[in-house]
This record gives sequence, structure tokens and C-alpha cells, in this order.
Amino acid sequence: MLTGRSPSPPSSDRVRPDVAVVGAGPIGLAIAWRCAARGLRVVVHDPAPGSGASAVAAGMLSPVAEAYFGERQLTGLLLASAARWPAFAAELTATTGVEIGYRTEGTLMVGLTGDDLAEARRLWAYQQGLGLPVTPLRPSELRDREPALAPRVRGGALALTDHQVDPRLLVPALRTAAQRAGAVLVSQPVRSLSDVDAPVTVVAAGCGAAALTGLPVRPVKGQILRLRAPDGVAPGFRHVIRGYADGEHVYLVPRSDGEVVLGATVEERSDTTVTAGAVQRLLRAGVDVLPELAEYDLVEAVAGLRPGTPDNAPILGPLPDRPDVLAATGHHRHGIVLTPITADLIVDLVLGGVPDPLLAPFGADRFGGAAVAAGGAEPTMEGDLWS
Ligand SMILES: Cc1cc2nc3c(=O)[nH]c(=O)nc-3n(C[C@H](O)[C@H](O)[C@H](O)COP(=O)(O)OP(=O)(O)OC[C@H]3O[C@@H](n4cnc5c(N)ncnc54)[C@H](O)[C@@H]3O)c2cc1C
Repeated sequence: MLTGRSPSPPSSDRVRPDVAVVGAGPIGLAIAWRCAARGLRVVVHDPAPGSGASAVAAGMLSPVAEAYFGERQLTGLLLASAARWPAFAAELTATTGVEIGYRTEGTLMVGLTGDDLAEARRLWAYQQGLGLPVTPLRPSELRDREPALAPRVRGGALALTDHQVDPRLLVPALRTAAQRAGAVLVSQPVRSLSDVDAPVTVVAAGCGAAALTGLPVRPVKGQILRLRAPDGVAPGFRHVIRGYADGEHVYLVPRSDGEVVLGATVEERSDTTVTAGAVQRLLRAGVDVLPELAEYDLVEAVAGLRPGTPDNAPILGPLPDRPDVLAATGHHRHGIVLTPITADLIVDLVLGGVPDPLLAPFGADRFGGAAVAAGGAEPTMEGDLWS
């Protein structure tokens, strides 16, 4: 990429950057921060920074609970990125002075019925088979950890290393960090890559990447709710809770400021309408797992579009026919957890380093021409609610 040349010296002339980043979501902003911090001149194009999927995302950092059948390479990338999160969060907070809601209490996975537990235990056995830290807990042990769980909860497991961050704090912090490092934000969309004048362009536009690159990135709708504990108190639970509830999948994410995020649907649709049926199902499953939620204020119901790919994994690296254009998109359900590693891997590529072996399974060429032309819209979700 920029091999054989030094980054441009600092200058007030911002006309031709070293790197143009398209998209100021968590992925684009983290890449911009890392590139600018390495001395590159960076311009980030986005008409509405932080308005994509991250604006609604729950912020679970769940490589263990989301280690699904058939996704071993993705699981490896998720684990590698989650391992970078503590240092990444500390550095971001030290750089900006902003707390980003990074919490490490861990994730409880619980089931209500025998069928729910059978489904969950099959996945936990798979995760344990990969050597992941999933610890089965009896109902009494679950209630010792979270007394507010419903009496109906019949069993569960702990994924202690699955953490959380608040994306609504993370993205403004990344924007501040990128700008302090020298990145310049341009509040306009990129309509065609031919409009970008830079030796290297990074396309980090989430669902917007498909129109710019032809890559098979499709919108996967997620409806999600935000509730608040009454009287401004903290929620009555501390762990992220993922529930198998009468065949539904639901998660509950407690924030220190009293907010609880309750999500989410997984729908092969591109609208952001909130439907009564989805709200009803989310609330019913959430209250079944944690009855006190019924007393909480419902403060927001919203939908966002995950940038999905045919194999649920991100697309990282040069376009097959444009080595000067790097894709950093398709992060689907995992864009928050994958933010640190994506930024590190892409900045290495920009600087012309030897590509990290971690990148190999995630190249832009892996789908072939047909998938690119067809948009690759191959539904692969296993359920209707969750993540
Ligand atoms: C309901 C829901 C829950 C989620 N929960 C989690 C979770 O718990 N954990 C997790 O890791 N992930 C979660 N995600 C996924 C996560 O939000 C995404 O993977 C992540 O936001 C992707 O980041 P991004 O920067 O690539 O894209 P986005 O966040 O979508 O940002 C893309 C940016 O690009 C800009 N853009 C688009 N087109 C153009 C263009 N042509 N020119 C310029 N700018 C453009 C947009 O304005 C936007 O600001 C969730 C998503 C949803 C919808």
C-alpha cells in the first residue's frame, strides 16, 4: 500500500490525504484514529457519523456466547479482538477522557424450559469443545449471582470473559480520538469511489459498502428496545443475560446509568420500521427471564441494519480488481467486538506490512463473482430473535 514512502509530513494542506476512509461508524473511526496516530494524513467521509448500526447496537463483546456452529474462523477473530478490548478501551479513555461503559462482569446464559435448555446445552457443549470458558451453573448458583432471575429459570452457564461496552459512548470517543490525532471529517457521502482522491481508500461504510464496491453486504434488520429502571436506580442485575425463553432468544444488557438494552430481532429486511409484534415478543421474552423488567420504563424502540455477509464474517482487505481500495465491512452482528482488531489489521495493510495471517479467511475475493453480482443475500440466521 504505502510501502516505500513515508507518511506525509504534518501540513495544513489537507487537499490530498494519504488515506480516505468512507464511513464514520466504529470501524471507520477506529481505522482513522489508528492511521492518523501513525502519522498518516486521513480524511473521513460521512454525512452522518455514527448513524449506522452502531447507533442502536447493544455493545456485547461476546466471542464465547456467540461461538456458533460452522463459524470457527470467525470465532477465532472474535476471540482475538475481544482480547484486545481491555487495552483498547483503556487507551481510548486515556486519550479522550471519555468513559465508554466497558464492563467486565461477564455473561450469563439461561434457559426456561427443558427444550430451551436442550438447545442451549448443545451449543454450550460445542463451545466447551472448542476450549472456550463456559461454566454450567445450577439454578441456585444462577440466583446467587443474579437474584432477580425468574423462578422459572431451570439452568444456565457463565461466560465470564464475555464483556460489554456502550456503543453510544464508544463512537463519539472514537471520533474525538481520530480528530485529535489529526483526522479530518468531511460531512458528505461518497457516491462513487472515483470521487475519492487518495492513494488508499478504506471502505468502512457498513451497509453502504455494497453500492460502492459490489461486495455482497446486505442489511439484516434488528429491532431493539431500551428500558430504564424506575427512579434512576441501577438495573437490578449486573451481568449481560442471554435468555432462551420458550423458544425465543433474547438478551438483556444492564448499563451503569440505569439503562437496560433488550434485543433483538434478526430479519432479512432493509427497512427500519418498529413493529408492535416485535416489541411484544421482545418484552414477553425479557420479562419471562427477568420479571422486574415489567416495572421498568420503556424509553426507546428502534431498528438498525447490520451489515451482513453470506458467511456472517467481515470482509477485510483489498478489492480483487482495486488493490488501492481496502474493504473493512460486513461486520454483521459483531462490529463492536471486532473494532480493535479490524483497525489494527487494516492500518497494517495501509502501511504495507506483511498481511497478518488472521486476515486470510476474510478476503474480499472469497465469494467469487457470482455472489458479488447477486449481492450474496443468502439467509443464514438460525432464529428470529437475538443478537
Ligand atoms: C440491533 C443491533 C444490535 C447489535 N448488537 C451488537 C453487539 O451487541 N455487539 C456487536 O459487536 N455488534 C452489534 N451489532 C452490530 C454492529 O452494530 C455493527 O456490526 C457495526 O455497527 C458495524 O460498524 P460499521 O462502522 O462497519 O458500520 P455502521 O455502524 O453501520 O456505520 C456505517 C457508517 O457509514 C456511513 N456511510 C454509509 N454509506 C456511506 C457513503 N456512501 N459515504 C459516506 N459514509 C457512508 C454511515 O452514515 C455510517 O455512519 C448490532 C447491530 C444491531 C442492528
